Amino acid sequence: MLFAYLAVFCGVILLLIWSSQSLLLNRIYSRIMLSRMDAAAGDLATICDSEGAQRGAEVIAVNYQVGIAVFDLTDTGLGSRLLWAGGEGGSVLSRLTNAEYAELYAAASVSGSVTRTYSDRFDFAPSEVGGTLRPPLSITADAHRIVRVRLMETPSGNQIVVFLDAAMMPVGSAAGALQVEILLLSIVLVVGALCLAYVMSRRIVAPITRLTEKAGRLAGGHYDVSFAEESSYREIGELSATLDYAAGELSKVDGLQKELIANISHDLRTPLTMIIGYGEIMRDIEGENKPENVQVIIDEAKRLSGLVNDILQLSRYQAGCETLDISSFNLAEELQHTAASYGQMLEGRGFHFFVQVPGALPVTADRLRVQQVINNLVSNAVNYAGDSREIMLIGKQLADGYLRVEVVDHGEGIPPDKLADIWQRYYKVDAQHKRSVIGSGLGLSIVRGILELHHARYGVESRLGEGSRFWFELPPKQ
Ligand code: ADP
Repeated sequence: MLFAYLAVFCGVILLLIWSSQSLLLNRIYSRIMLSRMDAAAGDLATICDSEGAQRGAEVIAVNYQVGIAVFDLTDTGLGSRLLWAGGEGGSVLSRLTNAEYAELYAAASVSGSVTRTYSDRFDFAPSEVGGTLRPPLSITADAHRIVRVRLMETPSGNQIVVFLDAAMMPVGSAAGALQVEILLLSIVLVVGALCLAYVMSRRIVAPITRLTEKAGRLAGGHYDVSFAEESSYREIGELSATLDYAAGELSKVDGLQKELIANISHDLRTPLTMIIGYGEIMRDIEGENKPENVQVIIDEAKRLSGLVNDILQLSRYQAGCETLDISSFNLAEELQHTAASYGQMLEGRGFHFFVQVPGALPVTADRLRVQQVINNLVSNAVNYAGDSREIMLIGKQLADGYLRVEVVDHGEGIPPDKLADIWQRYYKVDAQHKRSVIGSGLGLSIVRGILELHHARYGVESRLGEGSRFWFELPPKQ
């Protein structure tokens, strides 16, 4: 394909050279000759009246390489010959008869000038010069001479007729030589195009073909394919890097999906097993229909419903069909409220909640969703608190007007290489699902969905063994 394009390109260039050479060369050459003769005629007219006109004419004949015959004009036609130069030997002017001169003048008098072409062959026919036979100088049939006749006026107002003749070089033979040159050029161009096509196909097309083939394998689910390509072209390097990145992301998503199915089926199955088990016990064993057992069923059913809600909510964020219900409220109050209710709930387990807020932190946002974000962060802090049971909630206004909330724990922390991944849906640092740690790996992706809807900034700072600081910053006005 590449070669076909290059071949067409070369073809067009050659055609252009060929046509310009064969069509234009002759014309351009004739034009140059005619203008040269006209210039000579102009010079002759200016010197015609002067003393040394004959000498001047000879100089002009040499300079312009023309034969010259200048006549004055009488009422009846051509008068006497005034000047004569360079008209010997090969010149046509020396073999024109008086009648021919008269006829040329008559033709020129109609429009002021006339141009005739004469064959050169007879002029240079073999002739004896000094006893030796001279070979014909005119080798090609198209070698000829042109005669130009112009009616002019001298500076003193005399009317004169200028006859000029010049040899036209056989352009055809020059063109022939050029054609050979073009033929050679064509061969060089075609060979060059072949080499170029080969090099280009090796350096551009081949890597692209390999990338395409690998992309096909990737589409078929082989996420381990490596796109790394040795190429000196930056774009190909970038393409392969991008494809490698895409393959990495796809494989991550694939792994996460598989994990999700494992997690969710586990999360769904455990409460369901409990509900069924307790239900059967209560049905079959007398005296087991106790409020504690009913409570277990209710708790497990709630857990199930919470999980299903999370999944539904996340899929709505992903579909982008969630809208915000914006109102103004005090963020400081919200933080205090959350800390108080968690504190009450977890008092028995030794948790302590500290709140650090100014008196008021007015914000315009979706109150329920911001509550949900704080709840999710606090419940993560509780879940991953480890032995340290102190959790800090901080709220403050930043210099640029953003409202910053931090949820700080001194728990197990998150490994640095996992920090970017925790915001991914279904991601859990500890893939081994612990029943004691509630959560399906959806909490932070829901937080992210809500914060992004609010155009908020968010992030986490964490050190293994030292704890984590999750933060988000709500813009001053929504
Ligand atoms: P989960 O429901 O599993 O808690 P999340 O999306 O809320 O899911 O969190 C994703 C993962 O991020 C968690 O599984 C956990 O490994 C890690 N993580 C979240 N918050 C904390 C925290 N405060 N301390 C340590 N690890 C955390």
